[in-house]
Amino acid sequence: MEKFEVNILGCGAAIPIGRHMTTSQLVNVHDKLFMVDCGEGTQTQIWKSGIKLTNMDNIFISHAHGDHFFGLVPLLSSLNLMLGRTKDINVFVPEDLKDILMLMLKELCHIPFNVNINTFMGNSNQKIYEDEEMEIETIPLKHGIPCCGFLFREKPKKRVLLPKKCLSYDIPKRDFKLIKSGYDYILPDGTLISNKELTAPSEFIPRSYAYCSDTAYNPSMVSQLKDVHLLYHETTFLANDKNQAINAFHSTTHQAANIAKRANARKLIIGHYSIRYDDEQQFEQEVKSIFPNAEACNEGMVFSV
Ligand SMILES: [Zn+2]
Repeated sequence: MEKFEVNILGCGAAIPIGRHMTTSQLVNVHDKLFMVDCGEGTQTQIWKSGIKLTNMDNIFISHAHGDHFFGLVPLLSSLNLMLGRTKDINVFVPEDLKDILMLMLKELCHIPFNVNINTFMGNSNQKIYEDEEMEIETIPLKHGIPCCGFLFREKPKKRVLLPKKCLSYDIPKRDFKLIKSGYDYILPDGTLISNKELTAPSEFIPRSYAYCSDTAYNPSMVSQLKDVHLLYHETTFLANDKNQAINAFHSTTHQAANIAKRANARKLIIGHYSIRYDDEQQFEQEVKSIFPNAEACNEGMVFSV
């Protein structure tokens, strides 16, 4: 099975206190790395993790709160200094962050490669990335400012060639590539053999990962998250502090678990803990009381999708 995993670089809210760093994750899809949010100190976390960033060409920022992007400009600046990067990089941000970021990049650092800044709307579901193996779309969230999560989805695999069936028609092996690409086959006597007869559906089940950073309880996103394999949902507050969660446009443990349950997620991971709490055990217990297959994130953890 190809790699699809989530590396937790930071999972705390607001400020990088000793126990937790601010939010950042590296999502590895088939050995391509995608950074999701980049709080202060993210590059320190990367060096600690030992992950090489040579295959990271895309960075996604959920919203313009500092604990989700204050590490971005220093990281971009270091990519050349530390790794000698000269290749362009793509950064995806909500519209309201574009000018701030461009100003910081222009005034504060010299970066000898292009930083392509792409924007998305903070309140809509848009496909923002696609390659031959996967795609990424935004998840509109409910926060005080425009904010989106990101849904990573593998694409279904092509049908699988049936070599014995092909050979039974004396189809030469040099033509197998065409059949694998989806073409029907015409025999020398003009008979057409349909691609469906020469191939079988792949047994591969595409996997998905949903990253829901800062959000108030938002049941409207449940349909988009339906049957997701791995769901990260913030839990800034414990269940008893529901009113504070409402005021701050954040979620409690019970609310995150309810979203996972309603979406029929296979697994839930949680983070973005408020600095007012001392440990994550109670977060995990509260979430598990509603959605048992849940785990509290910590820096350095890696989750398979
Ligand atoms: Zn926020």
